[in-house]
Order: sequence, then C-alpha cells, then structure tokens
Amino acid sequence: MTKAITCMKCGAPLQLTNPDVRTIKCEFCDVINQLDIEQNPTKMGKFVPKKTSAGPLKVGMQGNFRGQQPFTVSGILEYSEDGDTWYEYMCEFSDGTLGWLQYDDGDWTMYFKKRLKTPVPPGVRANSRININGMSVTVEEVGTARITHVEGQIPFAVDYEEEVDYIDGWTEDDKAISIEMAEDEVELFVGREVNRRMLGL
Ligand SMILES: [Zn+2]
Repeated sequence: MTKAITCMKCGAPLQLTNPDVRTIKCEFCDVINQLDIEQNPTKMGKFVPKKTSAGPLKVGMQGNFRGQQPFTVSGILEYSEDGDTWYEYMCEFSDGTLGWLQYDDGDWTMYFKKRLKTPVPPGVRANSRININGMSVTVEEVGTARITHVEGQIPFAVDYEEEVDYIDGWTEDDKAISIEMAEDEVELFVGREVNRRMLGL
C-alpha cells in the first residue's frame, strides 16, 4: 500500500507506505506533517534539524524477525531524558503489520501496538502494580521524555521537541509494557525483549 500526499510546507511529494502512519517528516524541507485518519495532512509540525546518526539503525534498513518475518525500518524517534537517549524504530512487516522496536543502552524490545481497553489510572508510580487490559503490570519507570529527532514515518501524531509521558513495566510472564501519552493520545505497546540476531539485522 502506498499513498502519495504533498508536504504542507514545501509541496514536495511524500510517499506513505502504511495506512496507520499519522506523522511523516518531509525529506526535502525536514518539516513534520501530521495526518488525519484518512491520511490527509492536517497539521504542520516543526522543522527537524539534520542529524548524522539516529542510533544503530537507519530508515530503509531491512531485517527478518525470528528468521521468518521480513521487515523494513520506515521511521525513527529519538527520545531524551536527563542525559539518557533511546530510540524507537517503526518496523513495517511484509503483511503491513507495524512493529515498534526500541533500542535502549544495548537492549532491544520489539513492541506491537494494542488497543487500550482500560483507562490508565492517574498518579502511577514506579514499583507499583497496575492493571492494564486484564494484565497485572509491575511498573518499572514513569517519566517524561522529549522527542529529539524524527525520521521517516510514525504511526501516531508526534512532533519534534514534543514531550511524551510514559509508563514502562513488565507483566508476570515477562511481556514488556509501554504506555505513551503524547498530545491527547494514549498508546499501549506490548512487547518482548529480543536480541539483534533475532531481528536479522
Ligand atoms: Zn517539505
């Protein structure tokens, strides 16, 4: 699936490769375009300064998850908080499924977005236990990160330098849980820790 749109800032053509994409950075003028549910550009975001590196992966790289699910890296977010930096890579599988691969200080986690069926309780703290979609989650970290780089296509509305509140934790059967709250959106991601060999990268 591809859909062609034009950049709200410079009019350059932009190719969307997945129906779930809600943010794309223009490769020509480096300005963020946010899209509505029909993928029409509706909000112009910030200019993103060029950066030589966005972590270990690049847009366009290809992997093969568990040796049987080929994917292409089609978007990157760099997060920063208190001097720590980590990366999230949008991985587009050949069947259109999107994975969200996190790289944090040598650790890789492949997440998939899930529909949040229960509201996130207010005032969640680290080391507490919360119930999300029927799963008992031990909260490891609660924080606010800043988006310090954007490349390619992203499956939710996001802007450069935007702050994202997050809650990270683990279920009893070692699933990684990440809840991200940006603008008015709350997104739930459920994943597993993986290694680079399992990613075919
Ligand atoms: Zn542009």
